[in-house]
Amino acid sequence: MRTRFAPSPTGFLHIGGARTALFAWLHARRHHGQFILRIEDTDTERSEKRFVDGIIDGINWLGLDYDEGPIYQMDRMERYHSVIAQLLQENKAYRCYCSKERLENLREQQMANKHKPRYDGHCRDLQTVHDDKPYVIRFKNPEQGSVCFNDLVRGQIEVQNAELDDLIIQRTDGTPTYNFCVVIDDWDMNITTVIRGDDHINNTPRQINIFQALGVTPPQFAHVPMILGSDGKRLSKRHGAMSVTEYRDKGYLPEALLNYLVRLGWSHGDQEIFSMQEMKSLFDIADVNRAPAAFNEEKLIWLNQHYLKTENPNYLAGLLTHYLSVDTTQEPRLIDVVNALRERCKTLVELAEKAACFYQPVNSYDENAARQFLTKESSALLISVRDQLASLVDWSTEKIHEIVQQTLQQFAIKMPKLAQPLRVALTGNTQSPSIDVTLYLMGQARVLHDIDKALAFIAQSD
Ligand code: GLU
Repeated sequence: MRTRFAPSPTGFLHIGGARTALFAWLHARRHHGQFILRIEDTDTERSEKRFVDGIIDGINWLGLDYDEGPIYQMDRMERYHSVIAQLLQENKAYRCYCSKERLENLREQQMANKHKPRYDGHCRDLQTVHDDKPYVIRFKNPEQGSVCFNDLVRGQIEVQNAELDDLIIQRTDGTPTYNFCVVIDDWDMNITTVIRGDDHINNTPRQINIFQALGVTPPQFAHVPMILGSDGKRLSKRHGAMSVTEYRDKGYLPEALLNYLVRLGWSHGDQEIFSMQEMKSLFDIADVNRAPAAFNEEKLIWLNQHYLKTENPNYLAGLLTHYLSVDTTQEPRLIDVVNALRERCKTLVELAEKAACFYQPVNSYDENAARQFLTKESSALLISVRDQLASLVDWSTEKIHEIVQQTLQQFAIKMPKLAQPLRVALTGNTQSPSIDVTLYLMGQARVLHDIDKALAFIAQSD
């Protein structure tokens, strides 16, 4: 089993492309085969290095490891040209000298007669070769019979050869075209199963004819349905869909995105959560649904939260450092901060924002928070808690919890009255995990220092 992902680097890796890559990768892994990455960069005008880098970056981040590649089509020009020469020699391809004007007239005529526009084979049987005239090279498509293939997703497909015209395989400037290069590559790379978006389904019969002209058995094909936005239109940026690397930058976990992608068009009972191991052992391309799948951002967020809550905290801490600009080698341990915060975060970016206060001093207080909570009334509370915390020998969440509870009783107040002034003192605003955990993680020295600072602030704001 050998599958491939063959993106054209004319844009970043988007959700649809990533899902195609995932399906091809899973299919190879499930069958203990190989997965090949091929960059289809023959459209030199639209291909860009930054897109190649973005695609590879995205594939690597998702963990879709490839066994061969990246193979660049631009490095294989010699090979394509030698096969074209062979086809010309075997009279399976021909030079076409038709001018743009002729082709345009032909097209207009066909449209006017309500016929499908197609090349009429004008140069198909020309005997003379004109070296001084510009030409393209066309593949001699069979005129009779039909092309039949059993698509692993779509089932039996049959197209009459009479429907297909003679495809251009080499442009006037000498560059070979997509439909041709793809065949030579899938042949040379021994691809057994071509998994790609169903926007390519009309190319497949043409490609099969080229395989056959070369005497090569075509691979199997699986065309996966497209992804639609919530309005039923083809998914695009308008629907909030981003490139794979943008999802990473927004704080999504690769596990969440993969789990989300695998469910776009594939299911296993009503199971929603799939570990990588489960995906690898359960996925089969033949089980992919032929109906288009709909993009649903809420579900992706839900999955991201699930993985934030359940992944190994050490692993999360490792990922988190990419989102933090503070020094996390000092106390508290980042893994403890992750454990304290992860229940309340949707993304790694949110987790990083909440974690930052544990590693940087409070430089200023949020104006509203300070007005509301750093008041004369709260200073008595803060003084009392500070004294008790200062004499605490065993700095543990349990002991801190006891002190907090005692203070609440002593002053006959509810939690927010005490917790909020403490939060503002320690973080500058009113959001943090439970107050005992926050105090514990901040450490005794910092807590005392920050409470003193807040008390000074209160005294001086009179
Ligand atoms: N390069 C094509 C694309 O990005 C894919 C071709 C294929 O998978 O056969 O749409």
